[in-house]
Amino acid sequence: MSVGVAILGSTGSIGCSALQVLGRQRERFRVAALTAYSNAELLERQAAEWGPAYVGIVNGGKGDEGRGKGKGVQCLVEAATHPDVQIVVNAIVGAAGLEATLAALRAGKRVALANKETLVMAGELVTRTARECGGEIVPVDSEHSAVLQCVTGRESTELARLILTASGGPFRTWTPQRVAGATVDEALRHPTWKMGKKITVDSATLVNKALEVIEAHFLFGLPYDAVEVVVHPQSVVHAFVEFVDGSVLAQVGFPTMELPILYALTHPARVPDAGTRRFDPVAAGTLTFEPVSTDLYPAYSLGRGAAATGGTAATAFNAANEVAVELFLEGKIRFGRIGETIARVLDQHHAGDAATLEAVLAADAEARRLAREAAWR
Ligand code: NDP
Ligand code: MG
Repeated sequence: MSVGVAILGSTGSIGCSALQVLGRQRERFRVAALTAYSNAELLERQAAEWGPAYVGIVNGGKGDEGRGKGKGVQCLVEAATHPDVQIVVNAIVGAAGLEATLAALRAGKRVALANKETLVMAGELVTRTARECGGEIVPVDSEHSAVLQCVTGRESTELARLILTASGGPFRTWTPQRVAGATVDEALRHPTWKMGKKITVDSATLVNKALEVIEAHFLFGLPYDAVEVVVHPQSVVHAFVEFVDGSVLAQVGFPTMELPILYALTHPARVPDAGTRRFDPVAAGTLTFEPVSTDLYPAYSLGRGAAATGGTAATAFNAANEVAVELFLEGKIRFGRIGETIARVLDQHHAGDAATLEAVLAADAEARRLAREAAWR
């Protein structure tokens, strides 16, 4: 029997890569559910190719709400908890993915999680739900997949330190003054990864890496001072893991999301797959590593600060960033304003307990309101 997979956000960058992977693994997996936000045309083509038991669109669609079809935000939870689904690939961007992750975990399913924002906004709640309900969170993010691949089979007490790599984004060699005025086109020109717009901007501010530090903390249970980041422009080493004896393992490969997506589906097993470019150390060339410049990436430090504060500070950090990135992509604020907006929101936010959904959603809403004000001032 093949394993039923739901892909939430199937029309996005990760969603399309996931379908690419599943296309080579048809004996093991079947597509059981697909959802999109508004790209009805691509969703229909995907549904016609894969014949899933459930198809949902949040916003739009033709209005044919027959059997196995859903509309509106509730379609995400319907897809995530569909009886035909065993693994939910959450490839939604931003806070909108939270309820579906929680619902899938409550139903005891595996969540292959690309949607890192929701682990940042509600890490305590999400990990507790997984523990209490028998669900499982397996990261899709390449750095976290790398860590998972290095630690699988080990006890958590053997783990000492993680070092996540960051490409440094398109502005790595720029001056902070020039970066502050960068255009949308410039921010979207990522040197090593082809991804959706929001995460591409997050990679340019290095907010993405701050989100990943928080993600790693919740996934692997390490304190924040044991989760470090190094800039590695070639994106070949995805993470280093140091064990208590001082030994270090790393996971390497040419940048592709297809490998971490496949591993999230098969973990802890590995299956044959001929779809991605085989590693070649000579072709990978010289690998370099440099410290993170906090002058160049002020928003990264803000994220680490929010992480250290704990509670809803990470929720506010994520929400402020989502609002600021959206305004930047709409051409309404300059690039440097993203970090300034986050700083202002964190200054005004009173961090509280982030243990319940109500507390998290209230903090998220409040931070969004503050961000919309702060972005213009
Ligand atoms: P994209 O913008 O390419 O895709 C987002 C997907 O989510 C689309 O299918 C979109 O539908 C859907 N979507 C957008 N908003 C909503 C909403 N409010 N409710 C429901 N569905 C929504 O993003 P990416 O694929 O790049 O990223 C997805 C997630 O994966 C992010 O959390 C990102 O940080 C993470 N990630 C991405 C990587 C990458 O390589 N792209 C690498 C590591 C992590 P529609 O097309 O209809 O708008
Ligand atoms: Mg990543």
